[in-house]
Amino acid sequence: MIVAKFGGTSVADAAAVGRLIEIVGSRISERPLVVVSALAGVTDALLDLARQADTEDATSLDQAVGSLVHRHAQMAHALPGAGAALDFIAADAEQLRGELVQMEDRVATPAQLDALAARGELWSSKLVAGALAGCGMDAVWVDVRPLMITDTRHTRATPYLQVVNQRARDCLKPLCESGKIPVTQGFIGSTATGVPTTLGRGGSDFTAALLGAALGVSRVEIWTDVDGLMTADPHIVASARTLARASYEEAAELATFGAKILHPATALPLIRAGIPIVILNSTRPDRPGTMIEPEAVLEQVGDSPIRSISWKQGITVINIRAPRMLGTYGFLRALFEIFERHETVVDVLASGEVSVSLTIEDRSRLPSLLRDLGDLGEVWIEEKRAIIAIVGIGLRNTPGLAARVFNAVWPANVEVISQGASSINMTFVVREEDGPDVVRRLHREFFGSD
Ligand code: ADP
Ligand code: ASP
Ligand code: MG
Repeated sequence: MIVAKFGGTSVADAAAVGRLIEIVGSRISERPLVVVSALAGVTDALLDLARQADTEDATSLDQAVGSLVHRHAQMAHALPGAGAALDFIAADAEQLRGELVQMEDRVATPAQLDALAARGELWSSKLVAGALAGCGMDAVWVDVRPLMITDTRHTRATPYLQVVNQRARDCLKPLCESGKIPVTQGFIGSTATGVPTTLGRGGSDFTAALLGAALGVSRVEIWTDVDGLMTADPHIVASARTLARASYEEAAELATFGAKILHPATALPLIRAGIPIVILNSTRPDRPGTMIEPEAVLEQVGDSPIRSISWKQGITVINIRAPRMLGTYGFLRALFEIFERHETVVDVLASGEVSVSLTIEDRSRLPSLLRDLGDLGEVWIEEKRAIIAIVGIGLRNTPGLAARVFNAVWPANVEVISQGASSINMTFVVREEDGPDVVRRLHREFFGSD
């Protein structure tokens, strides 16, 4: 068995689904489980409806829902067999309209946002299942929500692994083994009482990995719009090169620091079983892609001491100056307890003589977080920052690397430099507007082109 996960651009229109059909058809003998994302842009559009419900009139809301339904309907008409999805989509859109009325003039709750966003994957998977069946394949649509049981942290829910493993095995294994092709949704789940949840943006990769681990598949294929994991985001660095192989750790570091090609948690469920992930380009299925596997022999890219560069924008730096406390026992514990209490993840940390600087991405609890941090000392923040991460093997032991990095980055101002316990990454913070240029300059320095 294998998992084949198709991201938004790989199901964006009828032509993309046509390519999906060919790819799945070429893997029938491997008993594929198909996981799909919403059509490109649909999750954003659905979440935007919540904002519109708060601010705009009923007619424009109705039009916005109508145009989403229209986009799916056009695809259904262009794909033999997919028309069967239309009744489901039309009925669900009606229910959606009802939910939007309830959201009028008030800010949507996280649970309402999840119910909204889940539609994207439900609708696209119906289309894809219909289109595969229309081509003579034995495809069956499976609702992932009763399998993907999560906690109640809406918009970033965590799946309960044991339950997911058991239910995925019970439901999906017999289908695959009997030669059927289950088609299901990434990204979405439900609480134990059946309330829809989502695993966080980009979470379909994580779903593919969770289901792949549960079923003990021989590999998880992530079909996307680029050739694989590259030396930098190819939409920023046109000459970025594809890495033939990568380690789980490397992929996780790059993903954590902004390479959105893979959700940061994707490798986690697969590590113990050593199941490889292959990233592939659905518009060029003949390309080899990137193989992420346990025993990956990581070759150097040219003569570069590093393997890739990623960046993440929308970062806030929090500085805490506590001259009396910094060297004392328990200061860092007190500091991190505050972040834990406010459920806010810290990405990068650097500590100096009398101050600590750290970065966060999620600003939803910022005011209360800052209030509590104020009890420890003087606190100030810097906004609209970006983290740049350089990933490579044994970076800590590469003499002269830091000098090359900071020379290349100049004249951009560098803040919060950190090289942690992992010898595979080095991170620092720059102003958000400098981010793409810094990535290009580093790429030129280390890979000879930008
Ligand atoms: P999907 O819809 O298939 O899940 P995503 O948009 O989530 O696709 O991720 C693919 C995108 O990731 C690429 O289009 C590319 O712009 C971006 N990306 C960022 N960093 C990298 C990198 N190091 N290698 C490849 N792609 C990257
Ligand atoms: N459709 C979801 C998103 O846009 C999940 C995914 O594509 O992985 O975030
Ligand atoms: Mg993605």
